[in-house]
Amino acid sequence: MLEVRDLRVAYGAAQALWSVSLDVRDGELLCVVGPNGAGKTTLINTIAGMLRARSGSISLDGRDITQLPAHRFCDAGIALVPEGRRLFTGMSVLENLELGSYLPKAKSERRQTLAQVIDLFPVIEEKLASPAGELSGGQQQMVAIARALMARPRLLLLDEPSLGLSPRIVHDMFAAIRRINAGGMSVLLVEQNVVMAMEVSQRAYVLEEGRVVAEGAPQELLSRPEIQRAYLGV
Ligand code: ATP
Repeated sequence: MLEVRDLRVAYGAAQALWSVSLDVRDGELLCVVGPNGAGKTTLINTIAGMLRARSGSISLDGRDITQLPAHRFCDAGIALVPEGRRLFTGMSVLENLELGSYLPKAKSERRQTLAQVIDLFPVIEEKLASPAGELSGGQQQMVAIARALMARPRLLLLDEPSLGLSPRIVHDMFAAIRRINAGGMSVLLVEQNVVMAMEVSQRAYVLEEGRVVAEGAPQELLSRPEIQRAYLGV
């Protein structure tokens, strides 16, 4: 459904992505892993329309969206859960969720979608009136994912959802991501937590220094000696 071709992105003179190509297939849970500074955030932010590519193309269901203004990406069916969550901490959880569904179509389905995200993250229900900033890190990450889901996207982009969370919460978070995908949504997950990300994903890309250096089935990638040396400390 998503086709990224020869994407080059730079910050001024500093090139962050060099000719990156990747595909997300319909209904797939795909991860992009790699070390700090590899370009994962740059890649996902460009796919979300937050950054402009110097060259290359991004298309969704055959429609070229590379030049679409940033605010139209949501309309096109792409929702991003940014690194660091970026909630409106002084606003209530409910207000944060409502902001996720401001477009007419999502707005008309707001009640049903809210019930779905509460089913996915039950703790949200009792926190609806609380300021988002008063929630724990794990709860805030759940709200950030729920806010993106409120837009009823076709493709969900997740930037490091496990960052700063305890192992138990990380486990729950990945279980929820798997459930979201099992419901039919395509998911692109960017992670430094290589083992967990590979465990839940159907396919993986390894990004290093702005380039895709490996791609394939997670089990096959994890069996490669160079991947084991670089990411599993073997
Ligand atoms: P992390 O896991 O630390 O977020 P990452 O894989 O997501 O790493 P990016 O944040 O995309 O990597 O960074 C890729 C490269 O671009 C790095 O060399 C980084 O220093 C550089 N970079 C990122 N953001 C900016 C910016 N706003 N201005 C200049 N350079 C940047």
